Amino acid sequence: MSSVSGQVHSIQSLGTVDGPGLRFVVFLQGCNLRCKCCHNPDTWEIQGAKTYTAEEIVEKATKYREYFGEKGGITLSGGEPLLQPDFAYEIFRLCHEKGINTCLDTSGSILNEQIKKLLTETDRVLLDIKYTDDELYRENVGCSLQKPMEFLQYLNEQIIPTTLRQVIIPTLNDNETNIEKLNEIVEKNTCIDKVELLPFKKICQTKYDSMSIQFPFADIPVPTKGTMNKLNNLLKI
Ligand code: SF4
Repeated sequence: MSSVSGQVHSIQSLGTVDGPGLRFVVFLQGCNLRCKCCHNPDTWEIQGAKTYTAEEIVEKATKYREYFGEKGGITLSGGEPLLQPDFAYEIFRLCHEKGINTCLDTSGSILNEQIKKLLTETDRVLLDIKYTDDELYRENVGCSLQKPMEFLQYLNEQIIPTTLRQVIIPTLNDNETNIEKLNEIVEKNTCIDKVELLPFKKICQTKYDSMSIQFPFADIPVPTKGTMNKLNNLLKI
């Protein structure tokens, strides 16, 4: 048995929104950031999660293999999967042994040798670029915009197919300037073959309530369909 184990928040057997096709989505526990728009505050702290070995995860994923088709596979999300790079690497390595496609959903705020190794077994990265403005990043995410940009530069150098994702949050990034900057980022990084704009949602309020912490964006409205359509139409990809 594999001796590499990690902390898992939850598992979604067949997800449709975290990467191409139908995917076995594993949400890893722990996050180094504190985004004010976070939907999963219950993944922040590493304590209290369930421990799995990489082999146990891959064994579970393999049961759904017939549903993956050509495009589907496994996605590691979180939390922040980059906090457990050895665990993530071992899961992806074992998946590749079985011919299962691998996808990494990340904020791209950390890059080190272990993570570079993980990326050698990663078929696609879903990179969450929260804002295109450094001040907004520092204020509402907790790191600089430079961090995900450096990560993206590395993905581009390694030619790793990348989906750029951004949650559209009214009053903060629901504007044309932001989309223009996203278009510039796409133009400079040919590894990006898809951009997904996701509407800000507030269903996570109940999680904040049950954790007795304040949801910082509780008063921000969700974007209208009209706004989402308008911004989507401005994308050049
Ligand atoms: S990176 Fe993701 S999990 Fe971490 S705080 Fe931000 S939105 Fe939440």
